[in-house]
Amino acid sequence: MRVIVVGAGIVGASAAYHLAKRGVPTTLVDARLRGAATPAGAGIVFPWPFPGDPAPDFALQAAEHLPALMRDLADDGLPTGYARTGGMSVGTDTDALDAEYGMLADLARRPGYTGLGEVARLERGEPARRFPVLPEDTAGVWVPGMARLDGARTAAALVDAAEQRGARRAAGDAALIGGASGVTGVRVGGTDLPADAVIVAAGAWTAPLLAPLGVRVPVYPMRGQIVHAALPGRATRDWPAVRFAGGTHYMLAFPPDRVVLSGTREPDAGFDARATVGGVARVLADAVGLAPGLEGATVAETRVGLRPAARDGRQILGTPAGLPGVVVATGLGANGLTLGPYQGAVAARLALGEDPGCDLAPFHPDRPVPAE
Ligand SMILES: Cc1cc2nc3c(=O)[nH]c(=O)nc-3n(C[C@H](O)[C@H](O)[C@H](O)COP(=O)(O)OP(=O)(O)OC[C@H]3O[C@@H](n4cnc5c(N)ncnc54)[C@H](O)[C@@H]3O)c2cc1C
Repeated sequence: MRVIVVGAGIVGASAAYHLAKRGVPTTLVDARLRGAATPAGAGIVFPWPFPGDPAPDFALQAAEHLPALMRDLADDGLPTGYARTGGMSVGTDTDALDAEYGMLADLARRPGYTGLGEVARLERGEPARRFPVLPEDTAGVWVPGMARLDGARTAAALVDAAEQRGARRAAGDAALIGGASGVTGVRVGGTDLPADAVIVAAGAWTAPLLAPLGVRVPVYPMRGQIVHAALPGRATRDWPAVRFAGGTHYMLAFPPDRVVLSGTREPDAGFDARATVGGVARVLADAVGLAPGLEGATVAETRVGLRPAARDGRQILGTPAGLPGVVVATGLGANGLTLGPYQGAVAARLALGEDPGCDLAPFHPDRPVPAE
């Protein structure tokens, strides 16, 4: 059994790692496209399903899988930037925070939802003590189970670990060989690479990769522009992740002095992976408005990534009816660093014809989705 994985983002890298670990001859192909989501991702890990998740078992299994995987990579001496720092929802609206606390405390009490830890209400002033650029009048809700990881380092660690176990790499733009009767491999730079199964983990580019074979999947690029700030002389290593209650803004920190500011969510930018004046200005203005202590911080870096967003908000995982031999694994949108390592592991099982270990019906590539 030979498997080719197209895409070395966090999903494809994880698939290749899990295959190589099982001794399966594996080739990982990547075109190093500008706008890949994984190296741009902020890095917050939310290890539990959100209310309304159509398949909460998947997220619960992912929450157990991730720390074990991070330990395995650490045992191999490979850095991922993973740390269970805890996290908090913050704000000044007491009623909204009480409601958030109630929702999270309810979730934490459900059987199997151990990933959240013991949720607690934080008094006014306490969030600023834990994340010192926040305003003093901010209160919050503490969730010990939140974590962070560095997407670029984690994907690189998975690729290194896969190579150490025999996986091969190929650089270039892959096209699928075959058609409705079955895919038999990929063509890269004029060379045909045969395979018994192909995992397509091409992120936002998955739809254009499958389109020549007449298969449509509901994934599109959602641009995220994100800024890393530095606070020289401040040790940010132990700062928790922050979610601003009632919106989509967040912040998190990395050692030695980095704070990552909430990225834009731009569904209409297509494959344009530029950082724009308007996008970066919005990120900075929002960040200083929410955390005035950042006013004097250094703008260390801007990054742009195209999140592989699904039109109905559900990931895409499985074999399209019109494409035997292919497993499609993408569509994780804003949660791919949290769920991508497990999506890759499940894709590896599917490529080997094994039971995925959870109900994947809500994620089937052929499910009906709203029109574009
Ligand atoms: C600004 C921003 C912030 C984010 N923050 C978080 C967060 O805090 N927490 C979280 O859980 N998630 C977050 N995400 C989401 C997460 O980063 C993505 O969901 C995840 O990285 C997607 O991984 P992927 O492997 O599916 O795709 P990608 O990382 O995009 O990888 C796809 C790969 O496929 C390759 N490729 C494509 N087509 C071909 C081809 N034809 N041939 C060869 N190679 C090909 C590309 O070169 C690329 O390397 C964030 C994303 C962004 C942009």
